[in-house]
Amino acid sequence: MSGEGPPELPPALVSTLRNAKHVVALTGSGVSAESGVPTFREAQTGLWERYDPQELATPEAFMRDPRLVWEWYQWRRELVSEVEPNPGHQALTELERRVPSFTLITQNVDGLHQESGSRNVIELHGNIRRTRCSGEGIVFERDEVSAMPPVCRYCGSLLRPDVVWFGEMLPPEALDAASEAARGCDLFFSIGTSSLVYPAAALPYEAMGGAAVLVEVNPDETPLTRHADYSLRGPAGEVLPKLVREAFEPGNG
Ligand code: NAD
Repeated sequence: MSGEGPPELPPALVSTLRNAKHVVALTGSGVSAESGVPTFREAQTGLWERYDPQELATPEAFMRDPRLVWEWYQWRRELVSEVEPNPGHQALTELERRVPSFTLITQNVDGLHQESGSRNVIELHGNIRRTRCSGEGIVFERDEVSAMPPVCRYCGSLLRPDVVWFGEMLPPEALDAASEAARGCDLFFSIGTSSLVYPAAALPYEAMGGAAVLVEVNPDETPLTRHADYSLRGPAGEVLPKLVREAFEPGNG
């Protein structure tokens, strides 16, 4: 995080946002950082510092040691249950109310966009709050974790978190809907994502192919930065509220 406050916003971008017809925002774990949810890199702390998330968030790890993987997820679920949406989430919720059409595509599994009130949310990587039967695929919205590791009350197979692990396919309907939104929008935001994890990282390029204006919000440079029409270097929780305010409440900018 820069700690220097939000950057000045280019007037041309403010006016593009004010006149946009279909806005798409792709978010990554950086948008939840200010709520206190660790990004993957930061999640290697305390008890879990010995483990590489890429070795816990895989089907192989789960087959090898489901209890260990569940303990890590239970730790992350507890973290998520204790935090609140931050001004970055809230600005995106407000934006949805202000523009004619808005699609929020998230790589996050924490459910904080929905908790903030965002409605049109595509979850590319699932949701850590749900569980799924690893045998029959039934999804449970409510916490079914009573034993460790938990099992399906219908068939006795292991339950797993309803998230996409490294090496797994993304839900095809979610990915198709995300691609369609990216290709059809006139303004695309990439917010708090390292732009390294594909296929989500391809979405901004699809938007550019459809002639959208591309904006990145991130305190740090990413591989996407040099392709962006606007790179807003700062924390999402500061940049996004300022942008929404300047576009839609100009007197209060
Ligand atoms: P990442 O950890 O690879 O990158 C996070 C990005 O956010 C970095 O580029 C960083 O500079 C930026 N960032 C940090 N603080 C920020 C802030 N305040 N405002 C804006 N940007 C900020 O995360 P990723 O790109 O989302 O990809 C990693 C994978 O990790 C994803 O697939 C996601 O499913 C998973 N993940 C999700 C959560 C969550 O749900 N909150 C948490 C950890 C990991």
